[in-house]
Amino acid sequence: MSKAIVIDFEGTLSDDSHRSGARDWNEYHALISRDKPIEAAIALAEAFRSEYEIVVISTTPEKYRQEITKWLLDNEVECDKVLLPAKRTYDVEAVTKTNLLKPIDVFIVFDDNASTVQSLRDVGYTVMEV
Ligand SMILES: [Mg+2]
Repeated sequence: MSKAIVIDFEGTLSDDSHRSGARDWNEYHALISRDKPIEAAIALAEAFRSEYEIVVISTTPEKYRQEITKWLLDNEVECDKVLLPAKRTYDVEAVTKTNLLKPIDVFIVFDDNASTVQSLRDVGYTVMEV
């Protein structure tokens, strides 16, 4: 199995900025389908596709898997795996992501959240902030 290119979903592959007005997490997640694609990140996934496993990661809970999978399909993002926590966690994003990444042979992570980037680096991952 090849090493994985891990790409964050919200804010890296998809522009979720329009969701900032959501009143709660349920409303926030329900708006996934309206996210605009971030073309540069999609091109990045495409460029690595032949040599690496493409893994999409999000802290959005499992029950929204269909929405995320549909978005990826609609925006022509080919990936091998989508990592989501089983339930909404109240941990900081980096803790949830570190747990999700444990079984993955990670080559590099792309993420837009500066504190997540730093925390993942602190535990040894190579991370590129986008
Ligand atoms: Mg993000």
